[in-house]
Amino acid sequence: MSEKFDAIVVGAGPSGNAAAFTLAKAGLNVLQLERGESAGSKNVQGAILYADALERMIPDFRDSAPLERHIIEQRMWVMDDDSFIGTHYRSEGFNKEPYNRYTIIRAQFDKWFSGKVQEAGALLVCETTVTSLLRDDKNRVVGVQVDREGGTIYADVVILADGVNSLLAKKADFHPELEPKNVALAVKEIHFMPQEVLQERFNIGEEEGVVIELFGKITNGMMGTGFLYTNKESIAIGVGCMLSDFKDQQTTPYALLEQLKEHPSIKPLLAGGEMKEYTAHLIPEGGYKAIPKIYGDGWMIVGDSGMFVNAVHREGSNLAMTTGRLAAETVIEMKTAGKDMTSANLAEYRKKLDESFVIKDLKKYQEMPEIFHHNRQFFTTYPELVNRSAHNMLHVDGVDKKTKEREIFSSFKQKRSLFGLMGDAYKLWRAFR
Ligand code: FAD
Repeated sequence: MSEKFDAIVVGAGPSGNAAAFTLAKAGLNVLQLERGESAGSKNVQGAILYADALERMIPDFRDSAPLERHIIEQRMWVMDDDSFIGTHYRSEGFNKEPYNRYTIIRAQFDKWFSGKVQEAGALLVCETTVTSLLRDDKNRVVGVQVDREGGTIYADVVILADGVNSLLAKKADFHPELEPKNVALAVKEIHFMPQEVLQERFNIGEEEGVVIELFGKITNGMMGTGFLYTNKESIAIGVGCMLSDFKDQQTTPYALLEQLKEHPSIKPLLAGGEMKEYTAHLIPEGGYKAIPKIYGDGWMIVGDSGMFVNAVHREGSNLAMTTGRLAAETVIEMKTAGKDMTSANLAEYRKKLDESFVIKDLKKYQEMPEIFHHNRQFFTTYPELVNRSAHNMLHVDGVDKKTKEREIFSSFKQKRSLFGLMGDAYKLWRAFR
């Protein structure tokens, strides 16, 4: 393995596949290295696929990609211990081709995407872990070392698409140790049930799907959220909280998921299902302020390894694909112009990202992680208050509605004070503006 490649891509998740596909499609000599036995074998996702990011690379992906259901309805539930208050948005607009969002099974999807990467001409080698980056005497990255005999491989540029806990980036000092406050630990189960049961339960047709985002007391005051997605004949349910919170509270994610499944609004949705899959994975949720340096002499970082996840909208795979594609397009531009892969030239990648939705969206929510870390009332007090208020208003007991309104207002004031309520409204505005 002493051949020199135009580019080496480390990892065969969505970011690595997007980078390798784009580079190979442009005729570059690309080696992709994956430690799993096949692409996707180590990967975990909810999983919602956002069509746009993939469509920009493979416009006809719908003809062959393994897609479960297209999403026609989005629910958002703010939960307390035994109730939820929520919004549902369902639209026939989402039921018209080309569909915009799909549920997928990541293991199947990654394999399909990897097939496209190889068809485009990239060489994929699995069961191979990159253990370190090679540098020349000027400290430029010139290749990788892998865990195989004689495993020294050279390339003009190395793209790190190795996921959230990038040991390579850490070892190379590209970014510091991942801080527990910047990463969520999520667990997910898949419950199988007959297609007809699932469709009746969620009021959907054969290929239609529903997403439920869950928020509130289900995370026991920790900063986090839950989700429930409908696949063809299964339901994916999961919950995730910041790692620092799990450490502080001494709770396990598994216990949290068990509690969520027992919630009276969730339990009937899973009833009769057979749990066949359980997975746990980290999600980088530090946001804009936690993005490390993502390029240098001979190297670039894409996807989860660069903290590219929009936790507010639960978008990760599309940011991964977009960063992978834009990194590859930068490399192609430099190659075409006969320029070296220096830090100064690869800075074009950051410029492209700044102009894209990736950085714009992360920047928009840059205050959110800090605000939610320090204001747990948004996960406990408010979900309880709004649920109790709804209960009070809808419970007909001879008390007039004006009195009920006063009771509700005074319950808010009692828990948070007028000043506290105003402060919280301001904090929410800052988090989401
Ligand atoms: P990964 O998918 O993690 O891929 C990294 C790859 O690199 C892996 O295959 C790994 O084996 C390989 N690798 C690592 N180190 C090495 C090495 N040294 N040598 C060789 N190979 C290596 N996003 C969405 O868009 N929608 C969702 O619904 C959604 N739900 C989620 C639910 C959960 C529970 C979780 C955990 C995440 C979810 N995400 C979702 C986020 C999404 O999964 C990630 O953002 C996305 O997978 C990132 O892609 P990636 O290619 O950067 O990293």
